[in-house]
Amino acid sequence: MIPVTQIYGRKASNGEINTVTFIAMTIFHILAVVAFFYIDFGAIMAAAILWWVAGSLGIGMAYHRLLTHRGYKTPKWVEYFLTICGTLALEGGPIFWVATHRIHHQHSDHDGDPHTPREGTFWAHMGWIMFGKAMHHDTEILARYTPDLSKDKFHVWLTTWHWIPQVVVGLGLLAYGGIPYVLWGTFFRTTYGLHATWLVNSATHLWGSRRFQTKDDSRNSWWVALLTFGEGWHNNHHAHPVSARHGLAWYEFDMNWIGISTLKALGLAWDVKVAKVRQEMEEEAA
Ligand SMILES: [Zn+2]
Ligand SMILES: [Zn+2]
Repeated sequence: MIPVTQIYGRKASNGEINTVTFIAMTIFHILAVVAFFYIDFGAIMAAAILWWVAGSLGIGMAYHRLLTHRGYKTPKWVEYFLTICGTLALEGGPIFWVATHRIHHQHSDHDGDPHTPREGTFWAHMGWIMFGKAMHHDTEILARYTPDLSKDKFHVWLTTWHWIPQVVVGLGLLAYGGIPYVLWGTFFRTTYGLHATWLVNSATHLWGSRRFQTKDDSRNSWWVALLTFGEGWHNNHHAHPVSARHGLAWYEFDMNWIGISTLKALGLAWDVKVAKVRQEMEEEAA
């Protein structure tokens, strides 16, 4: 078995471009700019709603806090629905995303981290997507990090066919509102969402405050938190990875936590893990 330290990270990359990813990224970026020539209020509203569906329900609440870290439990149908929302972010299927992120936590800012800014800010932001071996999606390596998801047929299927919901929603937008809806709701919204997520890998390992002395460079960044529905409280997160709540202080706005709390209130989430330190903070404030 090759250790991940020899597969992931810039040192392991031979600089070869990931062609399919590169072409897709180029098309999405160009069409995101073209959207500005088709300003349409309804289309921008559709993009805003889909940004929340993909970014908050999908990436933050499902891919990250539920599937990767198991910060709470839901009925299977809720897990599957939220995971489908996650595929709309164009960040790959659940098994790929979860494995990459678990590897990031295991090797944060050390050899084997797929995207540490210690190997360059651009590398951590999007270079690793364009050139990194993490994108080769080696099933055997991924399965090593996702024994839980790899036995679930739905997650295995969705990991292969993760682009289908994106295409279905895109065609729906086209049928409903024509070209402006697709440009805003698919291309602008997805490109914007990608950069927001990538900022968690780049910016929150570079700039911001550190409440906890973790072994990595993670930081809390209020502006990345605003762009990512709460994922920017990244130092809190590295210190307490299983906590379903990332914004620990009352002023640390965490939309994904509001979403999880809402599911809990509806009886659709249970075993919700919250960092112990949060209770201590409440006691201190009282
Ligand atoms: Zn991190
Ligand atoms: Zn994490």
